[in-house]
Amino acid sequence: MGLLALGTALDWPEAKTKAHHVRAWGIKQLLEIWNKAKVKERDAMLWGDEVEYLVVTYSKDDPKVLLSLRQADILAALAGDKDLAKEVTPPASPGGTKPKDKYPSPVFHPEFGRFMLEATPGKPWGIDFKELLHVEPDMKLRRAIAKDHMLPNEYPITLTTFPRIGSPGVFTEPHYPVSGPKLRSQFVPDEIANPHIRFPTLAANIRSRRGRKVQVNVPVFRDENTPWPWKDPTVNYDLHNWPEDDDVRNGAAPDNFIHMDAMAFGMGSCCLQITFQAKNITEGRKMYDQLSPLGPILLALTAATPIYKGFLADTDVRWNQISKAVDDRTAEELGEKPLQNDRWRIPKSRYASNSTYISEDPRLREEYLDPNLVIDPEIKQQLLDGGMDDRLATHFAHLFIRDPIVIFNEDLEVLDLSKTDHFENIQSTNWQHMRFKPPPADNNIGWRVEFRPMEIQITDFENAAFSVFMVLITRVILSFDLNFYIPITKVDENMETAHKRDAVLQEKFWFRRNLFSSRPSRGSGSGTNTPRSGGGGSRANSRPPSPVGPVEDEYKLMTVNEVINGDEEGEFPGLIPLVESYLDSVNVDVATRCQLARYLDLIRKRANGELWTAARWIREFVKGHEGYRRDSVVSEEVNKDLVGKVIEIGEREARGEGFKGLGRGVEKLLGGF
Ligand code: GLU
Ligand code: MG
Repeated sequence: MGLLALGTALDWPEAKTKAHHVRAWGIKQLLEIWNKAKVKERDAMLWGDEVEYLVVTYSKDDPKVLLSLRQADILAALAGDKDLAKEVTPPASPGGTKPKDKYPSPVFHPEFGRFMLEATPGKPWGIDFKELLHVEPDMKLRRAIAKDHMLPNEYPITLTTFPRIGSPGVFTEPHYPVSGPKLRSQFVPDEIANPHIRFPTLAANIRSRRGRKVQVNVPVFRDENTPWPWKDPTVNYDLHNWPEDDDVRNGAAPDNFIHMDAMAFGMGSCCLQITFQAKNITEGRKMYDQLSPLGPILLALTAATPIYKGFLADTDVRWNQISKAVDDRTAEELGEKPLQNDRWRIPKSRYASNSTYISEDPRLREEYLDPNLVIDPEIKQQLLDGGMDDRLATHFAHLFIRDPIVIFNEDLEVLDLSKTDHFENIQSTNWQHMRFKPPPADNNIGWRVEFRPMEIQITDFENAAFSVFMVLITRVILSFDLNFYIPITKVDENMETAHKRDAVLQEKFWFRRNLFSSRPSRGSGSGTNTPRSGGGGSRANSRPPSPVGPVEDEYKLMTVNEVINGDEEGEFPGLIPLVESYLDSVNVDVATRCQLARYLDLIRKRANGELWTAARWIREFVKGHEGYRRDSVVSEEVNKDLVGKVIEIGEREARGEGFKGLGRGVEKLLGGF
């Protein structure tokens, strides 16, 4: 989650006075990279995945399962292990193939929560289809290595959130009292955040910029015995340690919402991210745009977050909670007060779905863009003056409406154009669902695109399946030149829809009807499948005309099943059938194809309801537990059994035994895999 620079981090009032300075230097650095790298060509199709874990303590005899705050010790143990220093022998893939050589050991990183870890492969994955089969064993290897460097009662698990984080009583090991100076939370101690100065400063400055604590309210799930209206019983209205303790007295904790008040409730969640290297900037910009409308679909399909702070929530995914947990907007920016000190109203948090498209693809119609996009016009002008085109300049001028949150005094002394630190300061705290990443200043990496919305899955089989699926989708998009464009505001709407309980089966999402609407051919205007396309305007040297016709005709509401598996009328092909026809068109050996089929099968079944999402499985687990009283409360006992079952699933997977016979509905989550 960003660079861990060292130095003296400025508190908010002072950081605010330097914000302009950081932005100005950030833009200079951006122009420097852009000018250097705009012609950079790289091997297409290197990619990588990032898996985030919670570390829990669990033992059969202990009635409590806790978050372990030993991140630093675990990372130190990993870093100090000489056997891992260079290379590891990769395990065989499910198809039995083994990479020929040893390869670099996986890399472990800190994350926001002091109970979290992140792991990435030791080298990027390449273009060869066989490499897709190494992802799952590599993920298993990462988990095994992580486990080996923990205490016997600690486990790396891949639930998105710890179900009882912030519940009254003890939920961390060791235990700390709540209400520290940085987070000022009623529910979680400051010690829950990674102690590296960047993280507590991030949390404190977000709170301070905002002028009150973050307000992470999530609707509670109303069960048969849930009192209604429901008042969050864990909220303490009588605290008087910090001025922010007034927040709850001023209405921060409305009825029927689980109330949370700190960054850790959001950024303490785990996800699965995929980063692709494009062969050049043009391809990168295209990938960014084309993958954007898929974000909400994949969020719904990977839904895994039905519990917060010991209560069942009425939503299934983590997204909005993280969004609220880092929302640093002031009352003026939120539109609650007239603009006086701030520059503009801002409709979304820094963590949100993307707000614009960036490609110069002629299929991108003006109507897909948001006419109300907030940008900093001066920054845009500087970028244009520096030679950047309008669309990309607009994108960065939008990201740069934000203030830098963590500023190190030492970094403001000299502007170093061979670095990208000031640019990254703003870029890496714009947590949008896609990220367009210019090459780092000093190495060989190309332009990259990060796909960020997916929720982490319980098993590595599922995490590998979703990673491989996304890789195949990018291949399909590029080889068939698919067009997923819909208005960007419809993508926002879809992102909200993805939060609904069981959205994967119950909801419909805006999606483009015809993915093959090709570019009109030069001079004729034909070749587009869009009705009433314009034929005129094509002259020698001019770009082909964009298709015309009402934009609203181009998309409709579809279920996730239709998007993934195709519709019954045969009008919409479905992403999996497209991946399959792509695989038919390239040379993939039978063994590899069989293994890829396993992954596609999982996704197909999640989309059509044959299998449950993790969110559904967790809900059913709680509902079916003898200790659950149908009052939305996820007790210590239920939590322990749930986490215990997740650990058992992980142990089964590590032993390569499959998931049959585990009971508690596991077969509905993982089927016969
Ligand atoms: N854990 C965050 C999430 O669930 C992402 C943090 C990061 O960008 O690494 O979206
Ligand atoms: Mg991360």
